[in-house]
Amino acid sequence: MNAKDLKEKLFYKKENGCLILSDEELKKADAFCEGYKQFLDNGKTERECVTEAVRQAEEKGYVPFVPGTKYAPGAKVYLNNRGKSLILCRVGSEPLEKGAVIFASHIDSPRLDIKQVPLYEEMEQAFLKTHYYGGIKKYQWSVIPLALHGTIIRKDLSRVTVAIGEDDSDPVFCVTDLLPHLAQEQMKRPAAEIIKGEELNILIGSRPFRTDEASDRVKLNIASIIFEKYGITEADFLSAELEIVPAFKARDVGFDRSMIGAYGQDDRVCSYPAFKALIDHDEIPARTQLVLLADKEEIGSNGATGMKGAFFKYFVDDLGAPYGIAGHRILSASCCLSADVGAAIDPSFPETHDSRNAAYINYGPVIMKFTGSRGKGGSNDASAEFVGAVRKTLDDAGVIWQTSELGRVDLGGGGTVAAFIAELDVDTIDIGVPVLSMHAPFEITAKTDVYEMYKAFLAFIK
Ligand code: MN
Ligand code: MN
Repeated sequence: MNAKDLKEKLFYKKENGCLILSDEELKKADAFCEGYKQFLDNGKTERECVTEAVRQAEEKGYVPFVPGTKYAPGAKVYLNNRGKSLILCRVGSEPLEKGAVIFASHIDSPRLDIKQVPLYEEMEQAFLKTHYYGGIKKYQWSVIPLALHGTIIRKDLSRVTVAIGEDDSDPVFCVTDLLPHLAQEQMKRPAAEIIKGEELNILIGSRPFRTDEASDRVKLNIASIIFEKYGITEADFLSAELEIVPAFKARDVGFDRSMIGAYGQDDRVCSYPAFKALIDHDEIPARTQLVLLADKEEIGSNGATGMKGAFFKYFVDDLGAPYGIAGHRILSASCCLSADVGAAIDPSFPETHDSRNAAYINYGPVIMKFTGSRGKGGSNDASAEFVGAVRKTLDDAGVIWQTSELGRVDLGGGGTVAAFIAELDVDTIDIGVPVLSMHAPFEITAKTDVYEMYKAFLAFIK
């Protein structure tokens, strides 16, 4: 055998997905991403993502899960957990003892949350105070158009849902920054403090209340506009979840339109393909399928709607109970793709990765055998056996995929919901779409990767 053939036989080779896919498949990838962009525009908060996923699932025949029901193979149910996280379930033809195939992703994204006493006036300008949510570079959130989304519960427990800044005719909001001419002192601050946490104040108005003399007349004017429009007073902010997110829509990026730029792709870029694969697949699967769309991942998965919460475990208990099967027996026989984004290598910052073990855009979803930091700390490190099974499933289905680490050893790292599902005795592995500018207001993904992620989920359903 000559060297070329021997290399072909023995060496592991990664290839750009755009060179592997046929013209027809590339068109399918582009078409799939139109639906994805729509989902991003409709779902800028975890609540909106749940609403949209439920809407699409109901169109395909999914109904609310009723504990105590003995569901027949093919049954399509969902559990809406407090409007903020979601379980979709398709009951398989095999008995539940065989376990379920679980896809877990998250639908919360980094953002600025409005404080409980947020409204104030300073120098005749009105603002809202914020507390950022998740890992952000704070300076990236200044001087861009921002929208306000969320839920307010009035004193009488009635609910107000708001989304301002998305329609072209809506006003938007903004965090201001200094002009360069006066920024000499500011520019000496470390980057983490170029804009400090307490400087992330949202500009919301500047015209004073005109009919009479009083202090805080700009704040009063804003309070009066908000009262007229939403029937809420300043005290109603006490019981509100209001999120400031970028006001722009998902857009194609590049002359070749090969990429998508949008807010919140971590982790809606995995959530959308996951639930789409489930609801698009008509045949009854062999093993029961579960799709988890979790909240609170960006702040540690705590709380009743995060993956550390018990809602998922309880759901599995309830699913098995009518058959007399303990939930833990279903879980122990299950496997899980913990679908969360990977850090794509950025050619402008190549030193952050080991290039041989880095994720490249257009090379398909990334399998991360482990995450964690400083010696894999805090990681779910998938077994060779399970990685082998995943590898075979993806290869047999012709899915383009790659492996990577989250970055150079000892540089950074991170975690996902994988560890919390693995703790339930479920074989779990991290897989996800590579993202450029992760956690920025405008994150970049490649369309081929989004589509191959969808194909990967379909491969596991089949
Ligand atoms: Mn994520
Ligand atoms: Mn994240």
